[in-house]
Amino acid sequence: MSLFIQKNALASYMEAVQSEAGKGSVASYIPALQQADPDAFACVVHHGREREEAGDTGVRFTLQSTAKVISLALALMDRGEEEVFSRVGMEPSGNPFHSIQALEKEKPAKPLNPMINAGALVVADLLEGNKPDAVVHRFLRFIQQITANPDVDICAETAASERNHSDLNRALCYFLKSHHVLENEVEDVLNTYINLCSVRVNSCDLARIGSVLGADGRDPETGEYLIPAWTAEMVTTFMVTCGMYDASGSFAIKAGIPCKSGVSGALLGSLPDGTGIGVYSPPLDSHGNSAAGTRLLEKLSSDFQLSIFSGR
Ligand code: GLN
Repeated sequence: MSLFIQKNALASYMEAVQSEAGKGSVASYIPALQQADPDAFACVVHHGREREEAGDTGVRFTLQSTAKVISLALALMDRGEEEVFSRVGMEPSGNPFHSIQALEKEKPAKPLNPMINAGALVVADLLEGNKPDAVVHRFLRFIQQITANPDVDICAETAASERNHSDLNRALCYFLKSHHVLENEVEDVLNTYINLCSVRVNSCDLARIGSVLGADGRDPETGEYLIPAWTAEMVTTFMVTCGMYDASGSFAIKAGIPCKSGVSGALLGSLPDGTGIGVYSPPLDSHGNSAAGTRLLEKLSSDFQLSIFSGR
């Protein structure tokens, strides 16, 4: 269950799945995301002090829904398990990430899990900080610490673009607010959420995040705890059950890698031996997951027996 792979081999795997990207399409509902180069493809594997990378690893992109993993970790650290899960559930939804449908069924209203938009909006509401700017600043500092990269920033252009095209997320917020699930004002919660999604990283940063989560929350180089072990365990479990939205079940069968996707084309993978995998390929499949990235992880998993469920 280890991924020791040389750069050339990684590049060959990427070449083999590159055609999958042609079957997907770059997200367009946030106009800024449409500017992404559909041919960009990067993969980084991070373990301890070692890093193997191939492709366009210099390209920066926004976290989008991969941010949900880190915001959940921070909310759990801020508020504790009991409070967080009194406001958001632990069950896979089987619905697309922005679905409003399941919210109506729950009485009292409670998003099914923190990896779908409704749940992540509640998580954004739970983060400590008396002003939205302070919350976002704390989140950014936290990511800079986990990635060991002070250059990680917020892409203001993507944030503005999402803000102008957020009617569905705004509707989810109003629904939650009307059911007293949100403490803060709708526009503040929405702004916080959008800024978290707009944090800009590269695939090396993403792989390092996966490495920290896989190493029980420890910095892969210094061994210092950046996230408590119980929090890292909980978050990676959500990555298995809900990280790939309504394709989480099939991805668990085909790859068995705790993974979280984002509509920018980001994929954040994390293995229990402390290996982190960061993939970037913008064209998405019908579930909103990177098409070539998903295929790449499935292939690597099958050839290197990476599934956490494999006893081989
Ligand atoms: N910011 C995006 C949204 O809320 C994130 C969605 C995603 O990456 N799946 O629509």
